[in-house]
Amino acid sequence: MILVCPSCSAKNRVPEEKLDAAPNCGQCHAALLPRAPIELTEQNFSNFMSHSDLPVLIDLWADWCGPCKMMAPHFAEAAKHNPHVIFAKINTETSPRLSAAFNVRSIPTLVLMNKTTEVARISGALRSAELQQWLDQQLKVRS
Ligand SMILES: [Zn+2]
Repeated sequence: MILVCPSCSAKNRVPEEKLDAAPNCGQCHAALLPRAPIELTEQNFSNFMSHSDLPVLIDLWADWCGPCKMMAPHFAEAAKHNPHVIFAKINTETSPRLSAAFNVRSIPTLVLMNKTTEVARISGALRSAELQQWLDQQLKVRS
């Protein structure tokens, strides 16, 4: 499968059985699956989404948003436990066009994407257990 490097945006071909072996980018050697949220911006978003073969869970947030900050450590915690889902954050203030494209009405909003297709979304701050339950449900529906 193809994984896009969160650091340099290079496309890396990774055999599915190597996903759990902490694959690194062939270009810049950064971790392809860092088990921590990565940052998506207007610059890297469309390349990343159209070429990543794993589901991507996006947290749309802003610096001024208290519930977003409350959820951040829970989102990071969930990223550690879901190595086959890419956890990504989009700052709605620095990426207003992405925020508009997602038609975000309130934050935090979580959007689960499969390539460029939205699979599910949920708004409001979730704790890690709630987040995990929601994510498991969505992934179960898909498989
Ligand atoms: Zn790279």
